[in-house]
Amino acid sequence: MQVPFVDLKAQLNELREEVIPRIMTVIEDSSFILGPDVVTFEENFAAYVGTRFCVGVDSGTAALQLALAAMNVGPGDEVIVPANTFIASAVAVSEVGARPVFVDVDASYLIDPALLDAALTPRTKAIMPVHLYGQAVPMEPIVAFARKHGLRVIEDACQAHGARWNGRRVGSFGDAGCFSFYPGKNLGAYGDAGAVVTNDVTICEAVRLLRDLGQRRKYEHLVRAGNSRLDSVQAAVLDVKLRHLDRWNDARRRHAASYDAKLKQIGITPPLRLRDEGHVYHLYVIEVEDRAAVREVLAQRGVATGIHYPVPVHLQPAYADLGLGRGSFPRTEQTADRILSLPMFAELTEGQIDVVVDGIEAAAHLVRA
Ligand SMILES: *Cc1c(COP(=O)(O)O)cnc(C)c1O
Repeated sequence: MQVPFVDLKAQLNELREEVIPRIMTVIEDSSFILGPDVVTFEENFAAYVGTRFCVGVDSGTAALQLALAAMNVGPGDEVIVPANTFIASAVAVSEVGARPVFVDVDASYLIDPALLDAALTPRTKAIMPVHLYGQAVPMEPIVAFARKHGLRVIEDACQAHGARWNGRRVGSFGDAGCFSFYPGKNLGAYGDAGAVVTNDVTICEAVRLLRDLGQRRKYEHLVRAGNSRLDSVQAAVLDVKLRHLDRWNDARRRHAASYDAKLKQIGITPPLRLRDEGHVYHLYVIEVEDRAAVREVLAQRGVATGIHYPVPVHLQPAYADLGLGRGSFPRTEQTADRILSLPMFAELTEGQIDVVVDGIEAAAHLVRA
């Protein structure tokens, strides 16, 4: 039995009759750019997250970048970002001309609030908690720190559609929340797409200008900005899929509980879960000793795995100019060498989970070595 890392075809088979007519309607109506489907999806996604506004954009990276720009974060400013994240979190900061200041993570793989004070400088303008792997960052210490020091909060919720903290969905805690709808995310488009959610009308209006060449109305350009619009085909797809998101996230949580129980039985430590409702398991990440060998054993059994992420952002050539060598963020660096992402998607079957766990059991001496 093959166990893919993500199975987008299984999802399509379930959705085909719902989604194809919606796409065809956009095509028949030629409403490709900022049409009614974009407005409908924005309204529905804002309602889902629990914010007043949502502005659709063309990627998660653009969402982060435009949210920062909308808050006037720019050259000379610093933004606190977890060291353990996808590079896009940091790149969005760099793209507005500001500087990412990394902070190491704790055992949850999320930003360690105990290390925030040390990262603060007079130039700090904002903090970007990242709800990594689908797990909500405990928001109280982040929000309290931001209030105390007059910082903006931009949530990178690109891996955590629907995750909750204290009953509220992530994306609704900060000044803005940013989402990616990259195809493999918990809510994924049929191409690139993203969104900014906010309760702040000023940020909402600024992002609306920034995504569309600075236009208030056609040929009236108030600010210099590029084109980062969400297109209507993607919005239509997302609007259909949004209705299934909670059910898919529930399925992911069930699969995670199954992995947890089965891995414990064979003496493997499951990933730390802070709260039940707070995790939507975009990724199911364990730690292993000899990763290359474990991957090989699993691959031979037809099990695909991933690494998120093999090289921390501060050790990427793209950020060599920051001068942050090995040893700068020990926890992030240690885990980068050990983390292994197991197959995780809503349509995963119990049989497939058993194949994965059997493979890990066969490689147990390499997992714990
Ligand atoms: C996917 C992702 C992004 C970027 O989203 P794109 O849509 O690929 O631009 C940003 N941050 C995190 C944590 C992500 O996982």
